[in-house]
Amino acid sequence: MSGQPCAICGAKPSPSGCVAHASDHVIAARFITQHQLGDPNAAVNLVALCASCHPKKRRAEDRLCNRTNIVGWLQEFNRIGFPMEKVRKAMEFYSLGGTNE
Ligand SMILES: [Zn+2]
Repeated sequence: MSGQPCAICGAKPSPSGCVAHASDHVIAARFITQHQLGDPNAAVNLVALCASCHPKKRRAEDRLCNRTNIVGWLQEFNRIGFPMEKVRKAMEFYSLGGTNE
């Protein structure tokens, strides 16, 4: 996952390390584990995020993990500019609701 631009803002990791990137889960690993949906580390569920976007994403997914508010979580991900195409694919992969409208 290193070397990839941030999925939210598009920042590229710099050689000096000033834009540190983390590999994170599209759908929170704790949610997947808790609901026994499969392997949280499947390729479809991994995303590169820079140091400034990572905390935004973590805050948004609290809606999912603390209240199981899937609609609120999707709205918040959309608001922060998270690539919804990745979310849709991951939700399909884990057979999560909301894809058949
Ligand atoms: Zn970013």
